[in-house]
Amino acid sequence: MQKRKKKIYTIIILLLANLFLSSYIFFDKNGEIAFLNVGQGDSELIRTKEGQIVLIDGGPTAQVLEELGKELPYWDKTIDLVILSHPHADHLVGLNYVAKKYKIKKVIEGSKASDTPEYKTWQNIKKQKNIPTVRLSKGSRIILSKNESMDVLWPEKNYDDKDLNNDSLVINFTAEGKKYLFTGDAGSKVLEKIGEKLKADYLKVPHHGSKTALTQKALSDINPKKAIIEVGENSYGHPAQSILGLLKKNRIPYFLTLNGSQFLYY
Ligand SMILES: [Zn+2]
Repeated sequence: MQKRKKKIYTIIILLLANLFLSSYIFFDKNGEIAFLNVGQGDSELIRTKEGQIVLIDGGPTAQVLEELGKELPYWDKTIDLVILSHPHADHLVGLNYVAKKYKIKKVIEGSKASDTPEYKTWQNIKKQKNIPTVRLSKGSRIILSKNESMDVLWPEKNYDDKDLNNDSLVINFTAEGKKYLFTGDAGSKVLEKIGEKLKADYLKVPHHGSKTALTQKALSDINPKKAIIEVGENSYGHPAQSILGLLKKNRIPYFLTLNGSQFLYY
């Protein structure tokens, strides 16, 4: 190829790349919530209208990196906020991979630490990389922008349950007047204690749809238009037929991440 021709091709490619970048930055202003397909575990990515990136949980493996790669532009390796619902491996292990590849600005966790090897790794990475952790409990509010905020509904301060799932952070995210309820692995016992503050338009069903995830009372308090179940191939019987039956009886359409990541936009 002649030198001059090569130069022209290079310029055209650069112009196209530039156009692509600016269209992403200037025209793509919707908020997005992605319920990522990370196998049997939880991981949800929020891109706020102002472009902040919030990641709730990281699933059980490095699969989260592949999913993040699809959702985030390749040049952007910053996550503004990581929220760990509770320190079980199917929510935590993926975050250890994320922390190696991405710059995490801040971490929010519930009141309880853990002494598992994966949690020790997590603590070490945060220390090495100087990532600050804030522990929140019921009554806290995370303000992301004028019209986007998160209310922490659970755990109560000093709540102690022998089942770590019930220490999960339960967060109601309000964006542009709509509510999205993130429940970690909290059981219906916890949801029934929270009561009417659960009310939300969209529900991430607790604990991969296990049989203790929801009761009619909890579901009536939430009263969602749509439900998403984060679940993969597993031997626990998730999601339970009884939970799917309850959603059907209440005419709430539900979607499983087993069939691929699920998306909501606002
Ligand atoms: Zn779980």
